[in-house]
Parts: sequence; structure tokens; C-alpha cells
Amino acid sequence: DPVLRLSEVGKGFHGTTVLDGVSLDVPQGQFVALVGPSGAGKSTLLRLVNGMHLPDSGTVRTLGENPAACSRSRLRALRARVGFVFQQFGLVGRLSALENVLMGSLATLRLPRYGVMSYPRALRIRAVEHLDRVGLADRRFQRCDTLSGGQQQRVAVARTLLQSPELILADEPVASLDPAASMVVLEILKRISAEDGISVVCSLHQVELALATADRVVALRGGRLVLDEPAAGLAAER
Ligand code: ADP
Ligand code: ADP
Repeated sequence: DPVLRLSEVGKGFHGTTVLDGVSLDVPQGQFVALVGPSGAGKSTLLRLVNGMHLPDSGTVRTLGENPAACSRSRLRALRARVGFVFQQFGLVGRLSALENVLMGSLATLRLPRYGVMSYPRALRIRAVEHLDRVGLADRRFQRCDTLSGGQQQRVAVARTLLQSPELILADEPVASLDPAASMVVLEILKRISAEDGISVVCSLHQVELALATADRVVALRGGRLVLDEPAAGLAAER
């Protein structure tokens, strides 16, 4: 079974069609860039994958589950297996990088009351290992609001990794970063996908970045899937 399968998915809001007959299979370990202009339906597609939205027609299967048929507790369990990275990093600025990563172990991202030492030692070690993977182990005690945007997004990726996700959804993760920082973040996501066999679906509005980093480029336009190609082939055509 693919990690993710959308079959003829349709979704609208208040009578306006946002996604129309979208079909997509994502196998394990693939890094998929989802490109398209603003309003094309990228966020909506990602939200359908983890059950934040339910389709009006067609079916979604995520990690073998159909979010539309899940009970609340089953949906919660499914979401725990799906990491989500946002454009706005969602970090707590006054807390350290390490504390923010440790928050990934909490069922809900509420403020930990007692700081780093309130977490089990094994978890603290894993959190530092994840910070090391995103190149920020030496910044672990630094407050997040003193890190650059790119560094903050890397902390958010490390926080997601602590959740041991089987699938990572990234909604415009580099939209607020400069090109160099964007490449660093996308290369990290690509490495994680390749090394850990985690599928990543990452929305981007910059096609160039998609071609430079993704395994596969899927394009949405006006709610329809208009292109689905290996990134290498597309890059060669340019
Ligand atoms: P993208 O991520 O590609 O920019 P979105 O999925 O955010 O596109 O939005 C696609 C369209 O759906 C937009 O026109 C947006 O205004 C609309 N839309 C998204 N979410 C909602 C919602 N919850 N209610 C109403 N309209 C929505
Ligand atoms: P993003 O660019 O991150 O997709 P948006 O500004 O498009 O963020 O949307 C922010 C929130 O508002 C989302 O929850 C989205 O579903 C919702 N939304 C977007 N467009 C509309 C709309 N036309 N009506 C109601 N809710 C909307």
C-alpha cells in the first residue's frame, strides 16, 4: 500500500470548488513537491491528508487509514503518525531550541511548565540528536526568538522528528525564508526522507526550489492536478 493515496478527491467551500478529481499516490520515502500558485488548493490538499478537512467526494487513504471513516481517537492516533511543518514555524520564542523540540513529545503543543529537566533523560538525548541532524545541536540552549528564520524552521523540523512521523506534510515551509536558507531547509527534508524512508509532501510556490530538491513534482492549478513528473526529468527539460 502507498503511504498516501488520493482517489478522485473533490473538495469545496461554500459552493466554490477548491479541489476537483485529484488522484495521487505517494510511495514510502519519496519527497514530493506540491507546487502551484496561491489559491490553487495546496493547503487544502495537505489538510485532507491528515483529516483536518474531509473530502466532499472521492477517498483519502493516509497510512492505511481513511480519515473520513475514523473515530476521533483513531484520527488522533493517525495525526500522531503524520508530522506537520508550517510556514509560521509555530515555536515558542522565549523558550530554547531544545525545549521547543521536546514539546514535540507532548500530545498537544502546550507549554511545558518545568523546563528541559522535566522530560525523561532518554527523550532529552533523542531531542539533541534531532537538533544535531538539522545542524543546530550547538544552539540547543539558545532562545528561538534569537535564531534566524531558517534556523527556526530547522528547529520545527527537529520537533516534528521527535514525533517519529511516518509521513511529513510541510505547508509552504520556506515561504518566509531567503533562497539560501530555503535550500538548507529543503535539503534537510530531502535527506530525512531518503535516509529514514519517510515520505514528505511539501508545498512550495517556487518551482525552481522544487526542481532543485524534490524527487517528484506535482502541480495543482485551479484545483486540478496538471502535472506529475520526476523532478530530474523536468529539470533536464529546462
Ligand atoms: P493554496 O494553499 O494553494 O494557496 P488553499 O488550499 O489555501 O490554496 O486555498 C484554496 C482556495 O480555497 C482559496 O480560494 C481559499 O480561499 C479557499 N479556502 C481554503 N480554506 C478555506 C476554508 N476553510 N473556507 C473557505 N475557503 C477556503
Ligand atoms: P495559507 O496561506 O497558510 O494557506 P490562508 O490565509 O490561505 O493560509 O488561510 C488561513 C486559514 O483561513 C486557513 O485555515 C484556511 O483554511 C482559512 N481560509 C482560507 N481562505 C478562506 C476563506 N475564503 N474563507 C474562510 N476561511 C478561509
